[in-house]
Amino acid sequence: MKCPFCGHADDRVLDTRVQKDGSIRRRRECLDCKARFSTVENIMLAFPFIIKKDGRREPYSKEKILKGLQAACQKRPVSLSQIEAVVERISSWVINRADNEISSRLIGKKVMAELKLLDDVAYIRFASVYRTFKDVQEFVETLEDDELLDFVDVTNPQLSLTAMNIVENEKKLEHENDSKTTSPRTRSSTPLSN
Ligand SMILES: [Zn+2]
Repeated sequence: MKCPFCGHADDRVLDTRVQKDGSIRRRRECLDCKARFSTVENIMLAFPFIIKKDGRREPYSKEKILKGLQAACQKRPVSLSQIEAVVERISSWVINRADNEISSRLIGKKVMAELKLLDDVAYIRFASVYRTFKDVQEFVETLEDDELLDFVDVTNPQLSLTAMNIVENEKKLEHENDSKTTSPRTRSSTPLSN
């Protein structure tokens, strides 16, 4: 560390302390003029830039992720601390990728995956709600709405209905499969006692 008094490049560390916020404070003494000064070391949390579909870049914003999740979770049994925990998870995931850039599409996918774990209705609601609420509109603009469509079926503007239909169809399929093995007709012709 360059001495702030004489500009000398070398010093010795007299004392090292971890601060409450996790930063490290060091008391130093200049090897030349013997002046004492302190330095504080912090982890640099560098969020990558979001690359949108049209190539525009914008800084990653926790605030936007939070607002979007809050809007999707309105009137759902999801607490603010749960939502904040999701924001932290998404943000850690973004940082841990250690890239300078990340596509909005990837972040959108991560948000959807987290929402699905958090609350089914919030997940289903997400894409349909953004048309109504300005906050989510903003949020989805960040994530590129048309790329969101790649992993959420919103070809029908009433997403919740579309999603419900998908669930219903899946149930029907299950029943059809069931009936293939043990249909009522089979049961009547071949009684269980056989
Ligand atoms: Zn000095």
